Amino acid sequence: LQQTTNYYTDKSKIQSIIKSRDKFSHKGNFGHALLIAGSYGKMGAAVLASRACLKAGVGLLTAHIPHWGYQIIQNSVAEAMTSIDRSEMFFTEFPQLNNYNALGIGPGLDTKRNSATAFEELLNQLSDQKLVVDADALNILSQNKFLLVKLPKHTILTPHPKEFERLAGKWKNEMHRLEILKDFCKQYNVITILKGAHTVVALPDGNCYFNSSGNPGMATAGSGDVLTGIILALLAQGYSEKDAALAGVYIHGMAGDHALKNESEESLIASDIITNLGNAFK
Ligand code: AMP
Ligand code: MG
Repeated sequence: LQQTTNYYTDKSKIQSIIKSRDKFSHKGNFGHALLIAGSYGKMGAAVLASRACLKAGVGLLTAHIPHWGYQIIQNSVAEAMTSIDRSEMFFTEFPQLNNYNALGIGPGLDTKRNSATAFEELLNQLSDQKLVVDADALNILSQNKFLLVKLPKHTILTPHPKEFERLAGKWKNEMHRLEILKDFCKQYNVITILKGAHTVVALPDGNCYFNSSGNPGMATAGSGDVLTGIILALLAQGYSEKDAALAGVYIHGMAGDHALKNESEESLIASDIITNLGNAFK
């Protein structure tokens, strides 16, 4: 059995990852992200992930959304460009992928059959874009397990425990869950971010990083969508998959901790995490 190591992510680790910006840089230096998100009744997830992506430093963001969500995203996220699906309510197609450095898919999506077909086609067409997969895109993978082998190497998956159980099966206890997690990452050559208090970032080599930031106020609707937006932004800016996963998780938690200066654990909502991204990056 190959030895693996468990690490703890602290502030100094993340400070060594985050790059400073060149004085003469322009938005072209910070990547163009494509976010595929939202469906009828779940456009809020697309809005949160889009805002988080922009606040985490992406150069340009295009949000691909169903036709019906066009007004919502344009009104809510002035900085985002849009790509409109021909479907009124769901994800069924996607734009030319080679315009983008990084792709995020899942927040507020849906698991309709057409969405699964479109996701499969997207995996077939990917070349060197980095990918983060969340929420209903994870559930599409669970319902179509053959798609797991099509994920590009070092794809980042961001399941909460229920989503991970659907992907990888039930566990008997915490240690068993960690074993399943490591095996899963090795088998599919992916990075899995298993979310919760002390979120675990598990790498394809089986090494795991436990996060030290964050608080129970972050156990709230939309919190995970914000994380997806942050990681997408870091990928688009050229961070490696490992660095984007570690830094994204830590900064998300730290923004949640900063939010507690003005909020309580009860009153904290996902938007407050986004508002505090500036403090976290500083
Ligand atoms: P989701 O369930 O997809 O909305 O994701 C929830 C987000 O909130 C993840 O990033 C979790 O790590 C975070 N979160 C949930 N509960 C806690 C907690 N008790 N402590 C810290 N972070 C949490
Ligand atoms: Mg979620």
